[in-house]
Amino acid sequence: MPDSGQSKPVTRAVPTPITDAALLQAGELLRGGDLVAFPTETVYGLGADATNANAVARIFEAKGRPHFNPLIVHVPGLEAAAHLGIFSQRARDLAQAFWPGPLTLVVERAPGAPIAELASAGLSTLALRAPAHPAAQALLKAAGRPLAAPSANRSGRITATTAQHVAEDLADRVAMILDAGPTVHGLESTILDATGDDIVLLRPGAIPMEAIEASLGLRLLRAGDMSARPASPGQLESHYAPSAKMRLNAREVRPGEALLAFGDRTPQTTGPVANLSPSGDLVEAAANLFAYLRRLDQSGAATIAVMPIPEKGLGEAINDRLRRAAAPRP
Ligand code: AMP
Ligand code: MG
Repeated sequence: MPDSGQSKPVTRAVPTPITDAALLQAGELLRGGDLVAFPTETVYGLGADATNANAVARIFEAKGRPHFNPLIVHVPGLEAAAHLGIFSQRARDLAQAFWPGPLTLVVERAPGAPIAELASAGLSTLALRAPAHPAAQALLKAAGRPLAAPSANRSGRITATTAQHVAEDLADRVAMILDAGPTVHGLESTILDATGDDIVLLRPGAIPMEAIEASLGLRLLRAGDMSARPASPGQLESHYAPSAKMRLNAREVRPGEALLAFGDRTPQTTGPVANLSPSGDLVEAAANLFAYLRRLDQSGAATIAVMPIPEKGLGEAINDRLRRAAAPRP
């Protein structure tokens, strides 16, 4: 059977000037699960409906990233953000001082927040930002959804600061490219971990830390310089890891194991099973990965047996995450 991707005619998106009609169309595409590239004040973003796991999986497919990393979720402002994440008073103050603008706040995910687990790579935290660019704000309004958006470039390529750059990299992989000329900062957003009492700089960016420190009236901790604070989950490098053991490339299920299946040829078992994609679709499998891992982990099985996943397309990123989850932990 041919790959579904090969049988589709390839259409190339061209940069589209921002008009009411273009925004209306972009909003519809996003709500339908398609990808739309759009300008922000930092760089061009590759946007998808953050509440739609399949749409988020398509971001990773389009970028060709060999691993899943948590994405920044874009919202109109603090009110929308406060429905998705838990904001301390300090996090609120930061949002009020710098939003809309190039500041990303990492906060705990609010219970029941409808953001796809893949958007936060299975972490219990969310990275949220309200972009200042009027086109980004207009698109958020047109979509009516929070938008997960990494930089709009293929993995390993230069970050796109014009719609032409986006088109060169991604024209055959996105439904639409909104064009508002070159972005202002060209620098990515400053990322702060605001989950705890201390505010930690995770990534320097367009807002200088001096401005943040002046506004807070206190010093930021630097990631890596965590002497004042024990390393906590939600740090840049920590990843969701199940407490069950993982057995990869499993072709049979042993007694007491749960099964993370893929495809339609699943081995017999009476234990818990979750099938990432019965039809063998890697986008669907990526979309389900974190939620199903968690589900099997919560079943109480000591080991999760994982069927082989093909090492192509999104399979590479899925296997990367499974290997990390299977690696011995201290
Ligand atoms: P990009 O979208 O390419 O600008 O990258 C987003 C950055 O935000 C990456 O460096 C991520 O590691 C970081 N990030 C996103 N979500 C989280 C999170 N929940 N906790 C820590 N860092 C995050
Ligand atoms: Mg990038």
